[in-house]
Amino acid sequence: MHEQGLARSLLREVKAVWAQHPGSTVSQVDVQAGPLSGVEPLLLADAFARLTQEQFGTSIELVVHQVPLTAICNQCRREVTIERFRFVCPECGGTRLTETQGDCLKLLSINLAAVA
Ligand SMILES: [Zn+2]
Repeated sequence: MHEQGLARSLLREVKAVWAQHPGSTVSQVDVQAGPLSGVEPLLLADAFARLTQEQFGTSIELVVHQVPLTAICNQCRREVTIERFRFVCPECGGTRLTETQGDCLKLLSINLAAVA
């Protein structure tokens, strides 16, 4: 399953940050996912919860923030939002667009809490 692999690589990133903060626990992880990332937010959160439960005996909550797909038009240099995967600039009709957000899964933040 696609989401399981993503959850696994996400957890690797989280562990790397976590390792730099000894004596803390991770309470929540926030990620950003755009329409082109192909991520099913619920499935990903589920896979992540299961994975952390397996490894730490307690599940870490994953919050997936969905963002729109945005791009810079190579012709008029405006930043535009792409809807329904129509890669046409609404300003000038240009079709050469460079995606700036929404094409991948991105780790936003890791909430660490001190162990009591
Ligand atoms: Zn344009």
